[in-house]
Amino acid sequence: MTDCLFCRIARGELPATILYEDDQAVAFEDIRPQAPVHVLVIPRKHLTNLLAVGPEDEALVGHLLRVASQIARDKGVAESGFRVTVNINRDAGQSVDHLHFHLLGGRRLGWPPG
Ligand code: AMP
Ligand code: ZN
Repeated sequence: MTDCLFCRIARGELPATILYEDDQAVAFEDIRPQAPVHVLVIPRKHLTNLLAVGPEDEALVGHLLRVASQIARDKGVAESGFRVTVNINRDAGQSVDHLHFHLLGGRRLGWPPG
């Protein structure tokens, strides 16, 4: 999608603090961090959210989760703990319509989430 915010970040057309990228995935710092560690992991492929994931994307989603766990290790929160969250549609507060996994850590995270 040409005008999608995260597609544009993935293509390098908009600035972001990129932590990791490969042919399938990009990870960058959230612009409004909700925790000391707040990273977004996205596919290069435009998928609106988890509901758009088809059977052909199963390996991709697994890859995104593995990237998230590797970044958690690199950021030093693997031992202390972290959360991987995906918001879908209005009630969950999805504000960017390109699938993204939030990696949150570095503080005690409340449960259940608000
Ligand atoms: P969600 O509300 O789950 O759709 O998450 C969207 C996330 O994208 C929010 O945490 C925003 O702070 C973050 N965000 C929005 N624009 C940017 C941007 N240009 N660079 C980095 N993160 C962004
Ligand atoms: Zn997109």
